[in-house]
Amino acid sequence: MIRLSKSCISAKEKAYALEVLDREYLGMGERVGAFETALANFLNRETVCVSSGTSALHLALQAVGVTQGDEVIVPSMTYLASYQAISATGGVPVSCDVDPTTLQMDFNDAERRITPKTKAIMPVYFAGDPSQQSNWMKLASKYKLRLVEDAAHAFGSKIQGQPLGSNGDVTCFSFDGIKNITSGEGGCVVSSDPAVLKIVRDARLLGVSDDSKMRYIGKRSWAPKVNMQGWRYHMNDLSAAIGIGQLERFDYLASRRQSIARLYDHRFCDLDCVKTLSSDYDNVVPHLYTIRLPNPFIRDKVKDWLHGVGVQTGLHYYPNHLLDFYKKDVPLSLPMTEEIVGEILSLPLHPDLADSDVNYVCDQVKLCLYGMKS
Ligand SMILES: *Cc1c(COP(=O)(O)O)cnc(C)c1O
Repeated sequence: MIRLSKSCISAKEKAYALEVLDREYLGMGERVGAFETALANFLNRETVCVSSGTSALHLALQAVGVTQGDEVIVPSMTYLASYQAISATGGVPVSCDVDPTTLQMDFNDAERRITPKTKAIMPVYFAGDPSQQSNWMKLASKYKLRLVEDAAHAFGSKIQGQPLGSNGDVTCFSFDGIKNITSGEGGCVVSSDPAVLKIVRDARLLGVSDDSKMRYIGKRSWAPKVNMQGWRYHMNDLSAAIGIGQLERFDYLASRRQSIARLYDHRFCDLDCVKTLSSDYDNVVPHLYTIRLPNPFIRDKVKDWLHGVGVQTGLHYYPNHLLDFYKKDVPLSLPMTEEIVGEILSLPLHPDLADSDVNYVCDQVKLCLYGMKS
């Protein structure tokens, strides 16, 4: 079976994890501080590590002041986590349509949905492509909104030569098992705003003021100062050790992802019925390789064919505005999202895929499509 995605763990991550296990201190300590320093060097900005990408988004929204009844603009075609992070604050996700060629949130639709209740815009850099960032920054400043970027797919992607996260308002990454780097489970919030970082840092540790500093030197707050709602959202040392190893290997992990995506693009460029995202893989580190087929019938044929020849595929994503929990009394119609969900298919993409695996997947897609024509 060729897997859609997987964690890619080397002897380095195993050795770093073993050091933490041998120390028999698995909580949040010095390793988390070290991972934050390494990330800050990589991203050119201060970084706060947390337990997941979802908690990063939740804390970022809390930190920019999203609360009961506030609206947050978000694409419907995203992982459920983006929505749950918004509703966790009491905020309301305002679903937006998708641009069918880029699979990014549709800019005009997003602007149209801004109201006096809107507090933040949460673009999702689908598949890892942050190239629309400047548009979202302009929109946020035009309406005086906060920009909380769901960059879960986009760790390591660059904008004008600089890593994503070095230039936004508040950027959230995920380090879950299959993302561009993993810490097992984990995530981080990056910002230039010290007030945001302070809230995220305290709120991840049950709202205890400045507890992070104590933990990095192995101490505890005996008489905690608490003046906000917090959560148990901190990262642990075992996760941080794995993350440090992954970050040290990032050049390799990123270039494998990029060359696999380029190979797919090359193999599909002569097939009219396969639309690719054709991102700039000199700057984008792709988390997903998603293609668009002409209609749901063909998409399902290709999906079933690949399954039959041992190739896993994925659907990214089922629209959130259609979920019971997020449905409106007056049903919302997002025509592009609803059309595209029947046409998209994600193909295997992870650093351990060999070029021969990718060629096999492409050969099988072509076999299936040619078989249908005749
Ligand atoms: C993975 C992901 C998240 C959540 O990250 P976790 O670390 O799994 O909690 C949020 N948004 C998107 C788009 C994701 O793909």
